[in-house]
Amino acid sequence: MPKIQQLSPRLSNQIAAGEVVERPASVIKELLENSLDAGSSRIDIDVEQGGTRLMRIRDNGSGIEKDDLPLALARHATSKIHRLEDLEAVATLGFRGEALASVSSVSRLLLVSNTSDQGSGWQVAAEGDQMRTTVTPASHRQGTTVEVRDLFFNTPARRKFLKTEKTEFSRIDDVVRKIALSRFRTGFTLTHNQRTIHSLKPALTQSEMERRVALLCGPAFLENSVFIDREAAGLRLWGWLALPAFSRSQADMQHFYVNDRCIKDKVVMHALRQAYQDVLQHGRHPACLLYLEIEPANVDVNVHPTKHEVRFRDSRLVHDFLFRSLHRALADIVPGDKTVRTHENAAVFAASPDNPFQPRENLSLQLGSHAAASVHQAQMSHYQCLHEPLSEARIEQALAEGLVRAEPANPSVDKEVNHFGEPDDIPPLGYAIAQLKGIYILAENRLGLIVVDMHAAHERITYEQMKQALEGEGIRSQPLLVPESLAVSEREADAAVENRENFLRLGIALERAGPETLLIRQVPVLLR
Ligand code: ADP
Ligand code: MG
Repeated sequence: MPKIQQLSPRLSNQIAAGEVVERPASVIKELLENSLDAGSSRIDIDVEQGGTRLMRIRDNGSGIEKDDLPLALARHATSKIHRLEDLEAVATLGFRGEALASVSSVSRLLLVSNTSDQGSGWQVAAEGDQMRTTVTPASHRQGTTVEVRDLFFNTPARRKFLKTEKTEFSRIDDVVRKIALSRFRTGFTLTHNQRTIHSLKPALTQSEMERRVALLCGPAFLENSVFIDREAAGLRLWGWLALPAFSRSQADMQHFYVNDRCIKDKVVMHALRQAYQDVLQHGRHPACLLYLEIEPANVDVNVHPTKHEVRFRDSRLVHDFLFRSLHRALADIVPGDKTVRTHENAAVFAASPDNPFQPRENLSLQLGSHAAASVHQAQMSHYQCLHEPLSEARIEQALAEGLVRAEPANPSVDKEVNHFGEPDDIPPLGYAIAQLKGIYILAENRLGLIVVDMHAAHERITYEQMKQALEGEGIRSQPLLVPESLAVSEREADAAVENRENFLRLGIALERAGPETLLIRQVPVLLR
């Protein structure tokens, strides 16, 4: 066994850096948190080459005293806590005193600061394991600038794990968006290779806040969500909750903040999922931007070095509060006779106020495997519908699709089926009995009652036909007389343009008409 040796402080910094500095985006996160902790009302972020070449963060916060500058770069040096008890109720984003030490051990770092607008500022520099402890004058207004160059220049193994410039930048952009959504009163700018990506003024009023939300989460999110603000048991929950109709196929639009800190938490996720349970189809994920305010003493933020996780002192209480608030909010969303269509052919419909029946049961309707089957979970007990007349056109469509057969409710169906399984000539969705709400067809087959949304079923059939065409002779496409303009987020527009070829293969010709506008010029004939 070789002899045991104490590692030099810089070397242990470099090892520890692995915990907090995984990639450029993690540096941005730490530096932004520092700027916020310093009470900045404005933060400017400049990035070059996905952050690998340069990341510069300039703020107008409290600044750092001249004598403290070298300490700021030292490990386990922080101004945010002094005693263990302080950790019990830490109100700042940082408290471990690790970030600057870690970042400076794997980059070339310059720290410039001034605690007032008077006089010049001061700076210190560090380069990997070299640190110039001499503090030299530098011109700077009140606030701090941290410049990080050549990240991982001295740790090539780490550098190899970095992805393309584009990917690293998009991770930085994610971090900036998340943080900009955590502090509305702070203004942010972000540039990449000198190009302005975001320019966000401080948002103080509700409409300014919503403007920021629309910019960062996309206009569609804002249009399809409701603002909530609820308080109970010393907890407050506020933010934007998307309608079930705006559900996503991935859990990629769930932003949750606890005391302004963006976190991922099982308790929170569970409460969210449960609240949406009745109104979302399996496999769909809700979208939300929510802020929980809780007494700092009731939440432990010292769980993980990157501080993405927290531990609630009373997680049961938090869970119940979240679930109740969200459930209530969702119940309030659908008071009108509102049928909201989700992106994947599911529909949820609610009672009209002038017909205030209480759902007596949840009918969860399951179907066989027919591709055209459109399954719905509908909260319904409006059996009165059964007496409404059938719309000719709707039934005709259903017949044409071969989904149902127009026969009155037929008790013999059961018998027939029970004899020898499902005969070929029974349509997959059975026999139409009635039309509901002018939208659905109530049908009956071997499995029981089925609610068919003709529109959704039709969409599904078209989808299957397009899939077949794509695998076969290709999708036939046709130009639009008047191009269709589509409002999207900047990021969605980027993605669409990047995937133009793929869209073209699907018969959709699109181009960008503005930062948040797409122009659809050509669509598949099937979608005409
Ligand atoms: P922590 O944030 O956990 O305290 P850091 O290594 O991130 O540790 O920062 C060390 C110290 O440097 C902070 O406690 C703070 O006093 C000071 N500091 C860092 N960045 C800034 C900034 N932008 N403005 C003011 N002070 C800062
Ligand atoms: Mg910090």
